[in-house]
Amino acid sequence: MSEIYLYDRQFNKNTDYNVWMGFPGCTGFSLSSLGFMWLFKSLDEEDGINVERVCTDTKITQINAKDVNAICFSFSFDMDFISIFSILDKYNIPFKSKDREDNFPLIFAGGPVVTANPEPYKEFFDFLIIGDGDICNLEIIKLCRKYKLAGKSKRELLNELSSLDGVYVPNITQTVKKSHYDLSKCVYTPILSDESFFPNTFIIEVSRGCFNCCGFCIASYLNLPVRFVDYETIIEKLELGLKHTNKIALLGALISAHPRFSDICEYVYKRIQSGEKIEMSVSSLRADAITPDVIRTLAAAGQKHTTIAIEAASERLRKVVNKNLTEEQIFNAVKIAKEGGLKGIKIYSMIGLPTESQEDIDEFIRLAKDLKAINKGFDITFSFSTFVPKPHTPFQWCAKESIKSLEIKQNYLKKELSKLGMKPKFSSAKWDYYQALLSRGDSTLADYLIEVYKNGSKLGAFKSAAKKLSIDTDKFVEGVYDINQKLPWDFIVLNPGKEFLKNEYERLINN
Ligand code: SF4
Repeated sequence: MSEIYLYDRQFNKNTDYNVWMGFPGCTGFSLSSLGFMWLFKSLDEEDGINVERVCTDTKITQINAKDVNAICFSFSFDMDFISIFSILDKYNIPFKSKDREDNFPLIFAGGPVVTANPEPYKEFFDFLIIGDGDICNLEIIKLCRKYKLAGKSKRELLNELSSLDGVYVPNITQTVKKSHYDLSKCVYTPILSDESFFPNTFIIEVSRGCFNCCGFCIASYLNLPVRFVDYETIIEKLELGLKHTNKIALLGALISAHPRFSDICEYVYKRIQSGEKIEMSVSSLRADAITPDVIRTLAAAGQKHTTIAIEAASERLRKVVNKNLTEEQIFNAVKIAKEGGLKGIKIYSMIGLPTESQEDIDEFIRLAKDLKAINKGFDITFSFSTFVPKPHTPFQWCAKESIKSLEIKQNYLKKELSKLGMKPKFSSAKWDYYQALLSRGDSTLADYLIEVYKNGSKLGAFKSAAKKLSIDTDKFVEGVYDINQKLPWDFIVLNPGKEFLKNEYERLINN
C-alpha cells in the first residue's frame, strides 16, 4: 500500500501516551473517512502522543494492545457500531465499561451517530464526544495524557471530562452542550492512498451543515449554524492536493450553497482548460444550483453523471419535508445536465415519508414519464431510500413505515418504472428498520447489541436477538413518539432546541 502524507510527520518525537484510533470498517473505508483521518493527523502531529489506526482488517499492530492507553472510535453510520465489538473482542477487551478496570485503555467514541443519540451505546464507552471532534478530540486526549502522567485515577479523569462542553460521561453528565468547530481551518485528506475506497482522491470539506433544514435531515440539524470555508483557503488546499494527485472531491452537506461555489468550479475549469487532467467529483447538488457553468466543469472533470436529491415527486410532499423545490427547477436541472454534456442524472428520493399517500407514489411514475419524454437518450436513474426518523429533527416523533408496506411500494415502483425502461435502485427496507431502531433506541438495547454481535450481526441475528431478549423493536421503530414525552436524547443541548422542532413539526406535517 502506498501512502503519501500531506503533512510533515515527526518521526523522532517523544511519546509516552499510546492511542489507537479504531475504525469500525476495513482500512480502505477508513482512508476515505475524512473525520477519522483528520483526527489521526492532529494526534500524529502532537508531541508526546503515539497514534495508530486500527481497523477491522488490521492484522498486526505497531503498538502492543497491553500498552494502549486510549482507544478512540469514530462512526458515521448506525449499523457500523457492531464492528466495534469485533475490534474489542480481538484484543480481549470487555465490551462494557463497568467491566474494565483501570488497567484497560480508556475507550471513547464520537461521530454524527453518537452526537445524535448516544444512549444505545453508552454502556460500552467511558465517555462519548458530542458534536464536532476537530479540536475537542485532541484537547481531550491531551487531558487524558496529563492525568495519566500525574498518576490520577480514571474516576478523577472522568469527573474532569464531564465538566467540558462536548463530553458525555454516562452516569455523571446530566446535560451536555454540543462542541462546535468554526471551520476556520479547512479539513482535507491528510494521507493519499491507492488503497482508499476513493483511491488517491484528495477530499476537501468546503462547508458543514445546510440551512435548508429538511424535516428529516440530521446532517442539517446537527450542524447548525452552517459554516463555509473561505474561498482563498479552499484554493490554497486544492493546490496542495493537486501537487500530489489529479483526483479531487468537494465535500459538504450542500456544497452548491457555498457562496463562491461557481468560483471554485471556475478555478478548476480554468486549470483543465490550460491542459491539466483533473478529475473532480462533488456530493449531491441541489437541483436549483445546477447551472451551465457548474455542469461544464463537472463534464470537463470527467463526471458522466450528477446527482440531485428531490426527496419526493409531489410538490405537496416536498413541502411537508421542507424541500422547497419546484417541478420546473427539477426539469431545468435535467435539461442543463443533458445540454452540458453529461450522460445522465441520478435522482435521489425517499419513500415512507410522513403523510405519504398512494398519490404521492404515483407522482414518481408521472414525473419519470414526463422527464423521459423530453430527455430522450439521457440516462435518468431514480434511487430510493426509506424514511428513517432521526433524533433532533422535526420528524423525530414520526413512526417509520412497516417493512411490509415499504416493500409493497418498492415493488410497485420497480414494476412501473421498469415499464419505462428504468432500473430504479432501492435501499433495503429491512436494514433501514434496524437503522431506525438504533437511531431512536435507548440504553435498554445494550445487551441486545451484544447478542446481535454474538449471533453473527446479519439481519437474522437482529431478529432472533430481539426474540430471545424480549425486546419490542417495533416500539422504537414504528411507534409514534408523543410530542410531550421525554426522549432518550433530550439531555443533548442543541440550538435550535426542542420547542423549535415541535413548532416546525406542526407546521410541516399540516402541509
Ligand atoms: S437540502 Fe439536503 S442537506 Fe440540506 S437539509 Fe435538505 S436533505 Fe439535508
